[in-house]
Amino acid sequence: MASVPQLLAEPLIRDVPDFPKPGILFKDITPVLQSPAAFQEAVGLLAADAKKHGAECIVGIESRGFIFGTPIALELGLPFSMARKFGKLPYERISEEYALEYGTNIVEMHMDAVDPGQRVYIVDDLLATGGTAAASARLVERLGGHVCGMGFLVELGFLEGRKNLLGYQVDSLIQF
Ligand code: AMP
Repeated sequence: MASVPQLLAEPLIRDVPDFPKPGILFKDITPVLQSPAAFQEAVGLLAADAKKHGAECIVGIESRGFIFGTPIALELGLPFSMARKFGKLPYERISEEYALEYGTNIVEMHMDAVDPGQRVYIVDDLLATGGTAAASARLVERLGGHVCGMGFLVELGFLEGRKNLLGYQVDSLIQF
């Protein structure tokens, strides 16, 4: 995928050490959202990638995946669905648990979030270990959808999240 000159030209991904806990270097994407040109460029590039993969539905992962996923869906004229944290969705839903460094997390989707056979492009702000995206892909597949691609603004390559996403088309705009 093409790089994002606007994003690379400026330090728009801010390092915040020891957040949310000691030892974690948090990649804060809020400066991207505060730059309309960079935000628009990032959405445009991810939308182009989703289109290239023939997406028929965009799934955003809570919560920053919603910020990037919704404008992509609107730009392409596609439905948008949410993969949410445990206990947030009101309607009938399915759940997938995945491992964290310590403990587990659960991600959920509504039963009708994806149509059987639909080509689904999954969006999040950042790919770290890939656990969240892999669990979201399992949800889409249990609903009968086909994961045609995944798009991230940032990828922490040293965490090798792609190893958790073997078999999927994974793209990211900025790699660290
Ligand atoms: P993972 O499941 O390990 O790929 O984690 C991905 C999710 O956690 C994404 O929704 C990210 O927003 C968030 N995340 C994980 N690590 C970081 C980090 N170092 N900086 C910012 N967000 C992170």
